[in-house]
Amino acid sequence: MSIVTRFPPSPTGFMHIGNARTAYFNWLYARRYGGKFVVRIEDTDRARYQPEYVEAITNALDWMGLDHDGEIVSQFSRQPRHAEVAQALLEKGQAYYCYCSPEELEAMRVTSKAEGRATFYDRRWRDRDPSEAPAGVKPVVRIKAPLTGVMSVHDEVQGDVSVAAEQIDDFIILRSDGVPTYMLAVVVDDHDMGITHVIRGDDHLNNVFRQNVIYDAMGWAQPVYAHLPLILGPDGAKLSKRHGAASVEDFRGQGYLPEAMKNYLLKLGWSHGDDEIISNEQALEWFDLSGVNKSAGRFDYQKFESLNAHYLREAEPARLIDLMRPVYARDYDLVISEEAARHIAEGMDELKERAKTVQELAREALFYVRRPAGGLDEKAQKTLEEGTEILGHLLAAFVALATFDPDTVKDACMAVANDHAGGKLGKVGMPLRVALTGTMSSPTIFNVAAILGKDETCARIQTALTRD
Ligand code: GLU
Repeated sequence: MSIVTRFPPSPTGFMHIGNARTAYFNWLYARRYGGKFVVRIEDTDRARYQPEYVEAITNALDWMGLDHDGEIVSQFSRQPRHAEVAQALLEKGQAYYCYCSPEELEAMRVTSKAEGRATFYDRRWRDRDPSEAPAGVKPVVRIKAPLTGVMSVHDEVQGDVSVAAEQIDDFIILRSDGVPTYMLAVVVDDHDMGITHVIRGDDHLNNVFRQNVIYDAMGWAQPVYAHLPLILGPDGAKLSKRHGAASVEDFRGQGYLPEAMKNYLLKLGWSHGDDEIISNEQALEWFDLSGVNKSAGRFDYQKFESLNAHYLREAEPARLIDLMRPVYARDYDLVISEEAARHIAEGMDELKERAKTVQELAREALFYVRRPAGGLDEKAQKTLEEGTEILGHLLAAFVALATFDPDTVKDACMAVANDHAGGKLGKVGMPLRVALTGTMSSPTIFNVAAILGKDETCARIQTALTRD
């Protein structure tokens, strides 16, 4: 069997992490087995529909590198086909028109509640002759669900799940205005798109029984189901904005890398021994539904950050610089010059060690992009004031250097320390650090000076000396 999986998000304006994980698992499963991964936008809620919402989804998928096969399908555009299936079910005698008024339905609700029943519709139109239809009432179409017995399904994650037939009523498949319900649309689309595996959040597990009623009534083969447990926040409640970042967009904006996100989402719902670092390539070799965890995973922001730091260290400098550009534009209103990009690339190894996200990386590398601005913090200001004399000596020493590399810079600092600071290198290094970076913490300052070059280093010391 050639595998076809799907990702059918409802466009809500952002891509929740749970949806991103669902998309990744579907993609992995399809790609691992040489199958197809298709995307369908469940855009039937026209009141809320915005094209930008669809864009948010496709951007998130692109960013994560989850390519799909074929055109993206719009569920809304398939409404005529859904109605056609409802018609076919009517003709087969598997569905029927129901003419109940809102008042009648309300009365049924009250009765079923009093009797403690799970469903309320009493199937009064199931076997009634259509000639009894009241005039002028537009009917809904309901499907005939089994009246007795047990409905069972094997779920690849949850195992065997079943419900008593009494729990499932003759649910509506077509509303009175001719608009298909979600239950019908999903089944028709999944069938027509040749979906073999439905891998989705377990908030949809209960829908399986209803959806299978439609598959069976049409004589269509049911797909394989795998329902993934929810992603919880650190406190055990469903992960939401309340916990912090909860969407792909949020994390992307904070400087997370897509490979880190994929690895983290994978680990959050699936295990391969004790492996923590699992690249996309490895996941493509190993991923299987049997490794999906049965219980919900809690999102651990710190773990995700550490994983991101790992992938940051593995990333090519040029790529990271390209990722830093929009951060500089957005957060600092700065453009990276070619020279600054070269400097960042040269200093990247040390910069990476100091950052867990691209945003932090941009902050750490800020002094390569612009000279230290005024407004130093108190400690830095004090260090500079106390180090004025030292910086004067250092400037003279640097100007005299014929080569300006980390070793010669360090030797010059050492000589100034010996002559003027009782041999304490820190007394020289700290004011130099403030002069070059405007902060009290940076990568090794001799390296920073060498990367900035003699002229720029001297210019920055000069500026620091003349600052009031
Ligand atoms: N559109 C549904 C959602 O976003 C998915 C439905 C399904 O996977 O069957 O939750």
